[in-house]
Amino acid sequence: MKIGLVGLPGAGKSTVFGALTGMAVETGYGAGAGKQNLGTVKVPDARVDALAALYQPKKTTYAEVAFTDLGGGGHTGIDRAQLNAMREVDALCQVVRGFPDAAGDPPDPVNEIVELETETILADLEIVERRVERLRKDRSNPRELEVLEQILARLEGEQPVRGMELDEGQNKLLSGYRFLSAKPLLLVLNVSEDQAAAPAPGSVVEAAEARGLGLVVLSAQIEMDIAQMSPDEQPEFLATLGLEEPAKNRFIQAAYQLIDLISMLTAGPDECRAWPVPRGAKAPRAAGKIHSDIERGFIRAEVVPWQDLIELGSEAKCREAGKLRVEGKEYVVQDGDVVHFRFNV
Ligand code: GDP
Repeated sequence: MKIGLVGLPGAGKSTVFGALTGMAVETGYGAGAGKQNLGTVKVPDARVDALAALYQPKKTTYAEVAFTDLGGGGHTGIDRAQLNAMREVDALCQVVRGFPDAAGDPPDPVNEIVELETETILADLEIVERRVERLRKDRSNPRELEVLEQILARLEGEQPVRGMELDEGQNKLLSGYRFLSAKPLLLVLNVSEDQAAAPAPGSVVEAAEARGLGLVVLSAQIEMDIAQMSPDEQPEFLATLGLEEPAKNRFIQAAYQLIDLISMLTAGPDECRAWPVPRGAKAPRAAGKIHSDIERGFIRAEVVPWQDLIELGSEAKCREAGKLRVEGKEYVVQDGDVVHFRFNV
């Protein structure tokens, strides 16, 4: 699973990427033209921290999510290279400039949001028009034509595919197209240092709400500075800016939710760990994330919600209190379940 950082040149994609991953990247207009930085980021998780405090395990492992900086090389607008690169990722985070640029130009965040939306709609439209024309001619797939005609109407109305009500069968027919305007999208408003603690401008909040999109406000510059600081220097620095904690954690958690993963937890003296599992996965499939042998030999899952385990202090106590459930093959794993699998080898 990979999340692409997208947006106009100079919006702060490379700076956000550097702050997220702690990787040294080139920033500035046109920097890294045509290059794509790729980095993996741990998903902060207070549940894993609580379990680790209880078990004092040898190892603590967080879920991870991969970010890539789809910079493109252009100096203006969103270029073809960036649009093509977007097809290869599972979700998009649009970095939107909320600070005056080097030339002193004031930001125009709503316009940037609209611009990316328009570019993705046009890119999708190009594909759909061609395909619809073909299917109308050769009549080879009436079901596909029917749903593509709905999509065509939507795109012609300047609306993204995202937000359309499609059933499972229709989604299946469409999955190969990887529509850009259908990809989950999170907005990241990158504000100047003195605005980091202020609420987002109303116009941006409205633009996000009207589209049903999540919005995270941060100052990439501050996040980058924090990432390069030792932990004991951070609180004072944050306090002078009026911040309680870095925005990075909130941002990563929002991005993780975007790709529709939940965290299954495992806990014990060896390791406490969060495992990314697709929402809706049944127990054997979730077990397969740990090891294919466990999926193959699956017998049952012993499940306890993490809060109960923390509250009662051990699996045995949870069992006594009737909080530990025994679940079979059809069980759909829930976010925050602490799971112990029983399996045949
Ligand atoms: P990209 O083209 O979207 O990758 O943008 P960059 O990350 O390269 O940033 C463009 C310029 O804006 C660089 O000179 C950054 O130092 C600057 N910049 C990025 N984020 C911030 C921010 O939060 N505050 C301020 N003042 N400058 C920033």
